[in-house]
Amino acid sequence: MSWDVIVVGSGAGAMTSAVVAADRGLSVLVIEKSDKFGGTSAISGGGIWIPNNHYFAAKGGKDSYEKALQYILAAGGGKADETKVRAYLDHAPKMIKYLEDVSRVRYAVAEKYPDYYQHLPGALPGGRSLDPELFDTSTLGDELQNLRRPSASTLLMGRIAWTARDAHVAMARERGWRFKILGLMLRYKFDLKWRKKSKYDRRAGLGSSLVCALRASLLDRKVPLWLKTDFRDLVLDGDRVIGVRVEREGRALTLMARRGVILGAGGFEQNQTLREKYLPQPTKTAWSATPPGNNTGAALEAGMAAGAATDLLEWAWWAPTIAVVGEDKPRGVFAERAFPGAIVVNALGKRFCNEAQGYLEFGDAMYKDRDATGGRNVPAWCIFDAHFRFNYAMGPLMPAQIMPDSRLRKEWLGSVYWKADTLDELARQIGVDPAGLQDTVAKMNDYALTGKDTDFGRGDNVFDRYYGDVNVKPNPCLAPIRKGPFYAMRMDAGDIGTKGGLLTDAHARVVRADGSPIEGLYAIGNTSASVMGTAYPGAGATIGPAMTFGYIAAHHIAAAA
Ligand code: FAD
Repeated sequence: MSWDVIVVGSGAGAMTSAVVAADRGLSVLVIEKSDKFGGTSAISGGGIWIPNNHYFAAKGGKDSYEKALQYILAAGGGKADETKVRAYLDHAPKMIKYLEDVSRVRYAVAEKYPDYYQHLPGALPGGRSLDPELFDTSTLGDELQNLRRPSASTLLMGRIAWTARDAHVAMARERGWRFKILGLMLRYKFDLKWRKKSKYDRRAGLGSSLVCALRASLLDRKVPLWLKTDFRDLVLDGDRVIGVRVEREGRALTLMARRGVILGAGGFEQNQTLREKYLPQPTKTAWSATPPGNNTGAALEAGMAAGAATDLLEWAWWAPTIAVVGEDKPRGVFAERAFPGAIVVNALGKRFCNEAQGYLEFGDAMYKDRDATGGRNVPAWCIFDAHFRFNYAMGPLMPAQIMPDSRLRKEWLGSVYWKADTLDELARQIGVDPAGLQDTVAKMNDYALTGKDTDFGRGDNVFDRYYGDVNVKPNPCLAPIRKGPFYAMRMDAGDIGTKGGLLTDAHARVVRADGSPIEGLYAIGNTSASVMGTAYPGAGATIGPAMTFGYIAAHHIAAAA
């Protein structure tokens, strides 16, 4: 059995490469280990970070190649390779324009979503992050049953699809947010025909929209996608990769690839042994917000065995997570840390960073400061009061005005959240130093009055304030913690995928330590070391590059006739 190209994995990058390869006239097979397509991409926000995109330009937005280059290189901690960054900036806008023109993929610009490092040169206050439009899943037909379903946490009321732009209006409590939610609920409720078929919305949003659109585009092109096909190893002819060995429903098969193999099989976040080998400690697969069992690093190990160099293996796309009993994976805490009136402390009761900063930096701080504090930032504890609890969500706890404590699942008390009438009592319950916590809360209450967090500058820039409450003054990210009962939730040092992997060049070819490419082998997404170095420049900086280098790889294979 042979094809021109074999694509391993069915995340957004992998499916993008398959669409482009098919359009370039190549025969393509996509193989996916699980019984569902979409990978982590399917449960993600689906945001893609594309500097100089045509959506922003069409709205009169101003961006430039040079600005974006300056920004990424400044953010990348000296680990972003300029040649690859340039390849990204050259191709990312073309990639999304191409998909918009020829496939079912549809995006809109999230104009208000700021780049994450506002202090760096070249940062924009919005315009580079793109948000998927809703996708009508009824057009997928029977294939819909093979979709990796989005987590309930990313759906309104656990069922209703929305865009990140809609979600932001509700979270920031912008004018008209109640009407927005009501409108979405009514649209769902009165879709009576679809209601008879499914409790889920007919429409998919976020990452679900993206992978559905890509899957539909593959169906349009009659590109086969084999589920339950586990990539085990590469087939080499001398130094050249010519195929893959897989296990498919209990049978070992060898599949030949005449032109190339594209590894888009995610990172190694679901492999405890590899986590212990490469990531900072302590670390657990159970802290990862990615689908359990999917991304176990088989592609990384096969690439290394074929002689590939690696980079950034000690890095993940960090994000603090909250474990919820009864759910198969923990929830990433992306937005709530910025809401006014919640703080995050370590075992000493001390804050250790700006809670509102990007999730990668937050996770990094959980590890980074461990020498100073004796490893006490893992786990960290999010603390808030009854006022916060009434008004805002935190992890699975919807605001008490919608879901009071009496309606929360009983087993969550003492496992998902802790509650006490006083801060001292709360601190004792969770093993945090009570005096340290009192001291921190007193300081934060002062900062809420002045609007100035003199420790970490929370709320001082437009990115922090993106998830603040526009109605809270003087600083939308700061409010006092004083009204009992008081609450705590445990935050683990989680991730949304690993960031390091096989070293690749500007064509997405896997390279050896001397820089020479391994012929026939390409890697994209979290199977490859991130083009962004150690940074997370903006929302969509993992899937944007995965799709772009998928696009680049397919064109490179097609051109190398
Ligand atoms: P995946 O999308 O996980 O795809 C890899 C696929 O390969 C999987 O389906 C897996 O089953 C398959 N596979 C693994 N091993 C094998 C094997 N041996 N054989 C065959 N198949 C195999 N990033 C953004 O850029 N924007 C966002 O908005 C965003 N939001 C997020 C929200 C959440 C809640 C989470 C958890 C993550 C989010 N991320 C976001 C991160 C992003 O989803 C991932 O970094 C990205 O999807 C990884 O893409 P990938 O193609 O490398 O892996």
